[in-house]
This record gives sequence, C-alpha cells and structure tokens, in this order.
Amino acid sequence: MTGSSILMIYTGGTIGMKQDPKDQTLKPFDFDQIQEEVPELDKYGLKIDSYTFNPLIDSSDVEPSTWQSLATIIRDRYDDYDGFVVLHGTDTMAYSASALSFMLENLAKPVIFTGSQLPIGVPRTDGKENLISAVEIAAAKDSDGHPLVPEVCIFFDSLLLRGNRCTKVSSEEFRAFRSPGYPALAEAGINIRYNHQAILKPESWNGPLRIATSLDTRVSILKVHPGITPTVMRYFLCGKETRAVIMETYGSGNAPSAQWFVDIVKEAASMGKVLMNVTQCLSGSVNMDLYATGKTLEKAGVVSGIDITTESALAKLFYLMGKSNDNEWVKVHLGDNLKGEISK
Ligand code: ASP
Repeated sequence: MTGSSILMIYTGGTIGMKQDPKDQTLKPFDFDQIQEEVPELDKYGLKIDSYTFNPLIDSSDVEPSTWQSLATIIRDRYDDYDGFVVLHGTDTMAYSASALSFMLENLAKPVIFTGSQLPIGVPRTDGKENLISAVEIAAAKDSDGHPLVPEVCIFFDSLLLRGNRCTKVSSEEFRAFRSPGYPALAEAGINIRYNHQAILKPESWNGPLRIATSLDTRVSILKVHPGITPTVMRYFLCGKETRAVIMETYGSGNAPSAQWFVDIVKEAASMGKVLMNVTQCLSGSVNMDLYATGKTLEKAGVVSGIDITTESALAKLFYLMGKSNDNEWVKVHLGDNLKGEISK
C-alpha cells in the first residue's frame, strides 16, 4: 500500500462543512481544511492528491451532470492513480455510487464514496474514521499488486458496501447505509477484514476505462399505496415525457388487482413504456409468480427488478436508456446483472 497514489475528489456534503456563525447553518469549507483535520493520513506514506468541485454542493443538489463530471474526472486521471476516494454528501450518495457503478465500464480500480453524519471538525465526528479507512481501502492491493476492491463502493461506519446495493437508512445514526441484499465487502475493526469472495473482479486488469456519459433521465417513480387514484396512476405511467416507470410495489411485487389499475398498466405497456417492478421492502426480491396480483403485472409486460434498490434501478434505467432508443432492448438488459446490482 505504501507508495500508492490516491485521488480524493471532494464534491461537498456534511463531512466538509462548518457552522456559519451568522445563521448557524452548515456551509462547506475547503479541502485543505479537511486535510488539516486528518493528519493521520500522512502516516500511510501515500501520495494523495485532491480535486475539489467548484462550487461544492450539498448532495441534494446532485444531478446527472454531477455524475458525468465525476466519471470524466476519474477517466481523465485513471492511469495516474491506484484508487479514488469520493467525498460526497450522504443524502444522494447511494444514487451517485449506483450511477458511477454503471457509467465506469471496465473499472479495475477502487472508487470509494464516503462522507459523514457529523462535520469533520467537530469532536465526535464520524468523518475522520470514514475518510481514513476509505483511503486505506482505496490503496489496498493483493500480493500480485492488483487492487483488493476494484469496484464502486460506499464506506461508512466501518462497513464497505457495494455502491449499487446501498440505501440510506438513517438521517441520524452513524450507520447511515445498509446493503440489505448483499453482504459487506469488508469490515473495519482492528484490521480491515475483506470478504474476498463477495468482491467483483474485472474482466481485465489492464483494459482501458470507458465511461458511459449518455444518460436518458425520462424516468418516473411511482410508489403504489392504498388509495392511489386512476388520475395519479395515469399521470405517472402514461405521461408523454416518460419513457420508463419504476413501480415501487408491495412485498414480492404485488399491486392492487382493481381492473382500472391493471388497465392503466396495460395502457402504458401498449404505449411502449418500460415498466419496472421494484419492491418497497428494504430486503427481499420481486417474484411476480407468487401471487395473482403480481402475475397480472407480469402478463402486462412489467419487468421484474428482482432485488434491486430504487436508487440502483433509476441509475440502471438512465444508463441503459442512454445506450439505446429501443425500449425492448432496455427491457431485456434490465434483467442482466451488470455490476452486481441484483442477485442473479
Ligand atoms: N445534506 C447533506 C448532503 O447530503 C447531508 C450529508 O452529507 O450527510 O450533502
């Protein structure tokens, strides 16, 4: 690890914020101030460079253009670094990590997202531990000199999780993220224990990194709920601007069996929309064969999201639709396990 080079990309978020004495709100401070707070990083003997977004953003302001910038920054500097650490707000970190996991094609180096619940300058911050361990993981190599974790991940509160399996589960606890459908890739205790079997290996260690920056964002997300009306349904499913709909359904992929509900799903399907079924449950999988209500959706042409998170489903749709205008092609590839985002 000693001698490895790391690029730290600072986008913003709580980790680098301090309280503005004027109005008591949290505002970002600059990267040098972050480094001053974490002198421990010097002990690794790493070459650490930084890239700071201008302006720094609260991650609630993340847009697909932010992901395009991140992918381009990593691609342009890919050969110069052994690993990348992205400092990012927690609010949309799971979306960004999911998006980057698809957009960075042929990735063979670590891209570790981290952040914190408390700013790095405050005494009980979780930011220091998160940052130090993320850097260590980004620099870690096996005995052949290959990176131990050549994936897009989130490191938070001692757990290294696959980025496209994560969801933010707490706005207060230090353990802000969970990966309900896939085990942790590593856990930091006295040592960092890697779960080697769970970590994806690239097809080639040497192939060039390609980035897919064309994203089609014409996706709506409908959370099915008791009391949903035909007007709301039609608005989400049949709108002219919508190319795909993520239907967040109950349990194993179930939805109301009312005829009007089924008719609107069929209407959207006949318009050629991509309809994806994602469970509202935190864990478990869509299985449309289990109940009659799920079966009806399947027959209408709804594609199973299996155990994908909503964050990852959104990113996967943006990515696949950016690659092709053919919705039938998109539907077929939604079922593929592209980057370990589904259990298949
Ligand atoms: N609002 C902040 C952000 O996502 C919260 C955080 O960083 O934890 O940028």
